[in-house]
Formats: sequence, C-alpha cells, structure tokens
Amino acid sequence: MMPVIPYGRQDINQEDIDAVVNVLLSDYLTQGPVVPAFEKAVADYCGAQHAVAVNSATSALHIACLALGVGNGDIVWTTPITFVASANCALYCGATVDFVDINPSTYNLSVERLEEKLIQAEKTGKLPKVVIPVHLCGQSCDMAGIHALSQKYGFRIIEDASHAIGGKYKGEPVGNCRYSDITIFSFHPVKIITTGEGGMAVTNDSALAKHLRLLRSHGISSTPEDMQPRPSQEIWNYQQLDLGFNYRMTDIHAALGLSQMQRLDEFVTKRHAIAKRYDQRLSDLPVVTPWQHPDGFSSYHLYVIRLKLDAINKTHRQVYEALRAAGILVNLHYIPVYRQPYYEKMGFNEGCCPEAERYYMEAISIPMYYGLIDVQQDRVMGELRNAIGI
Ligand SMILES: *Cc1c(COP(=O)(O)O)cnc(C)c1O
Repeated sequence: MMPVIPYGRQDINQEDIDAVVNVLLSDYLTQGPVVPAFEKAVADYCGAQHAVAVNSATSALHIACLALGVGNGDIVWTTPITFVASANCALYCGATVDFVDINPSTYNLSVERLEEKLIQAEKTGKLPKVVIPVHLCGQSCDMAGIHALSQKYGFRIIEDASHAIGGKYKGEPVGNCRYSDITIFSFHPVKIITTGEGGMAVTNDSALAKHLRLLRSHGISSTPEDMQPRPSQEIWNYQQLDLGFNYRMTDIHAALGLSQMQRLDEFVTKRHAIAKRYDQRLSDLPVVTPWQHPDGFSSYHLYVIRLKLDAINKTHRQVYEALRAAGILVNLHYIPVYRQPYYEKMGFNEGCCPEAERYYMEAISIPMYYGLIDVQQDRVMGELRNAIGI
C-alpha cells in the first residue's frame, strides 16, 4: 500500500523545534515575551498597527464580534462556503446569521449578491451589523467593493483570513485592514503557517485592539489607568472590567509561529509553484482549475478543482471516494454552512444560496502543501485521471 497523501500538512524544521524547546527551558511558558514578539512579527508583515494573538481563529472571530458590539438582536452576514466558525462566532454573541451567495468564479462572497441583499434588508429594517468575508483558499475577496457597501449601509467588516496569511490584495498584504475593522488569521496545522492551534486578530484601531486584549483574558486589566477608582487603602492589582475568556496563546505556541513566520514567503512561493504545475497538467481534464482575480495574490491554502460532471461518467461522490480509496486524502471545502443540521434547525434550506449549492456539488480540494514533492503531485494527478475515468 502506498503511503497516503493528505490535502494539507504542516512543515516543521529544526529551527522551529529549537524555538519551541528554548521556550520550554525558559522562565515563561505562557504570558512571557514570545507572544508579543510573534504579534509584532505578524503586524509588521501585514502592515497593521496592532495584533492580538489567541488560542484559535475561532476565538479571534468570537472576540472580534464582541469588540464590534455584536449582541442579542444583531445580524451578521457571511459566506456559506466557509468553515462553520465564520458563522458560529455571531451565534456565540446571541446574534443571528445569514448568508450571502458566492461569486461563481472566485467562490468568495459575491459583492453583487451582497448589494442586492442589502437593498432588500434596508427595506425590511434588517441590515447586518457586521459582514464577515472569507478569503477562500487564500484568494482575497473584492474588499474594495465590500468596503464601499459598508460605507453606504453602515456595517462593520471582519475579514476571515484564516486561509490567507502571505496573500496580497491590490499589491498590499492581506491583513493591513485597509478595507476592514479587524482581520483574523488561523494557525491550525493545515493553514499556511502553524502554531499547533492558534489564531490572531489584527487591526489599525487602538481602542478595538485594547478591547480584544481585554476579552482574550477574562476581561481583566492590571493597567492602573484602565482601572476604576477604589479606596486607596484597598489592594487592586487587577480589575475585571468586562466578561472575557481565557483565549490566551502560550509562549510555546507563539515560538513555533514566530519561527514559521521566517519562512512564510517561502511557503507561499512553493504553493504557487505547485498550483502552476496543477494548472498546466490538469488543463486537458474535465475539471475547472482555480481562477485567480488579477487584483489578488493568493496564499494558495487550498487548491480546489470543480468537476465538469456533464463530461464525466461518475458522480462527485464517486470521484471523491475513488481518490480517497487510492490514498489521496482529498477533502471538500466546504459544505454550505447553512446545510449543517444545526443550521437547518434554524430554518435554512437548500434554496438559500444557489451558486454555493452548485459549487458544493462539484468541488474537491486536492493536495496542496509546502512539502508536496513532484512525484507525489504526479501520483495525485494520475489518480485523479483514474478516478474520473480518463
Ligand atoms: C480554519 C478556519 C477557521 C478556524 O480556525 P481555528 O484556528 O481552527 O479556530 C475559521 N475560518 C476559516 C475560513 C477556517 O478555514
């Protein structure tokens, strides 16, 4: 049996290992100097003013919503073609969620569908407080278009850039928050760089950054100027000012992230080389390879093909299962979030987003990661040919 080829995986080198071991041998395993150093490295890379590291992108999305004031009665919109966390974050805050259909070429949240939905929502008084565009596969959304609509309709923007660190939009790094209030990143092992588990929120707004820091750690501050006045004979070395969480990142995780940042550009360059090879060598197959908008430079977290089912004698599921049976651990990114049983209970159904449904019936994520070597990639393409039956 040939070894399996996953759809994504981390790359860990000796420097990464040494960085983690150094923290283990140091005075602080958490809340030491490495978390701020990692935050600075990401903020500087992205050209953002502030960065707040947390224990996952899910946590980052949650506190980003809270920092923007999302609560009971509010409405948050996102794309259906994303991981559930992009929508769940609004539910955590007591808000309701709705979905904007995708662009048929980029599979990102469609600006046209967004505008249509905003026009309707304005009439019924149900405008969203926050919109969460997701840079699917590492390709930026049309942020200028979404930002222009936010100015007109008064919503705030959280970019879910879980896939997109190292990517660019209009020549500038994703995460500079030129078109958003907050951008969040994930450092799960399948993403571009990893901390094991981890995430980060970046922003140019110092008040938001301060609130994010507070929410990350129980809502507690020990900064004297932030505390409320109390009788001077009492000891107040910290105060809880808000209801926060323990969403802190450890220095152990941050050390891995800081070390991985050194290779971020190298990781993305390699992913582009893999994508180019797929683009060229799959061009004769009945599949649609990922279209790239000229405004963007993808980090290529994922390489999603769409099956031209009219030209294939197999079902989507048959191709998917044949690849998995052959040891190519393809995946599906994503089932539309509203089709999940938990969301169906809220009343969503298949009719919600037709373009997302079409995508879901055809998409397959084939292996894409830094360590994927040519012979493995050739095996993926050979097995894809077999699975399709060509
Ligand atoms: C991975 C991912 C998340 C969640 O990231 P975690 O760090 O695992 O919490 C959120 N949104 C998207 C689009 C993701 O791909």
